[in-house]
Amino acid sequence: MQLEMGAASHVGAVRALNEDSCLAGTHLAVVADGMGGHARGDVASRLAIDAFRPLAGRTDLTPDDVRRAVVAANADLLADTDVHPERDGMGTTVTGIALVDHFGSPHWLVFNVGDSRVYRLDDGGVRLLTHDHSEVQELVDAGRLTDAQARVHPLRNIVTRSLGTDPAPEMDVWLFPPHPGDTFLLCSDGLTNELDDDGILDLWRNRRSASAESAADSLVAAAVSAGGRDNVTVVVVRTEAATFDEASLATTGPRSRFLEENR
Ligand code: CA
Repeated sequence: MQLEMGAASHVGAVRALNEDSCLAGTHLAVVADGMGGHARGDVASRLAIDAFRPLAGRTDLTPDDVRRAVVAANADLLADTDVHPERDGMGTTVTGIALVDHFGSPHWLVFNVGDSRVYRLDDGGVRLLTHDHSEVQELVDAGRLTDAQARVHPLRNIVTRSLGTDPAPEMDVWLFPPHPGDTFLLCSDGLTNELDDDGILDLWRNRRSASAESAADSLVAAAVSAGGRDNVTVVVVRTEAATFDEASLATTGPRSRFLEENR
């Protein structure tokens, strides 16, 4: 199955340094949002992404490959702060999606540590797949804040899990079978701080016939024009329906639905 990916990242309108990093590979896309300011959040996010680079060109990924890359990324951050004590306290979020082999059939694997996000985009709207590891999300989960209040809350930047910690953070993982036309949006919070779901959906509908690269560019540009108070990073991932391998879905169940949709 062929995937089309497009990535864009911008420092924003206020900050001097882009502490986000991202990767758009063959079957893998990753976004990392570094934190630490003078402790070098940019180094943290770059180190995390570097741990995924050996997987970037592969088309035979497994869930274990992704898990090992996350473990390696965390270890690399800790090792770096041993050598550079001035970077103590640096950390990064990491979120991504990979097309993996799961017991012989292709599956999407979505993974997350922190408050960067993966959304699914379709005609029904913008659907958040990941669950933020953040102070405000915990308040929302406890019923003490609404989503709208969380968006402007003073603690909205405080994450409760990140890479660069000992013990290593627990990673959330979701696995599900692919469908033709699947489209995903990965982003750092610099996008969602400026654009709500409706804003993202409007832009997406206007740009859906454009390339993934151009859609990513438009989303980032919109967040920067809306204020750009933080670094903004977007990766758009979509299946190319024409290259969808019907036979490879034979064991995943939804094959009959796939045939229906493509009649
Ligand atoms: Ca950020």
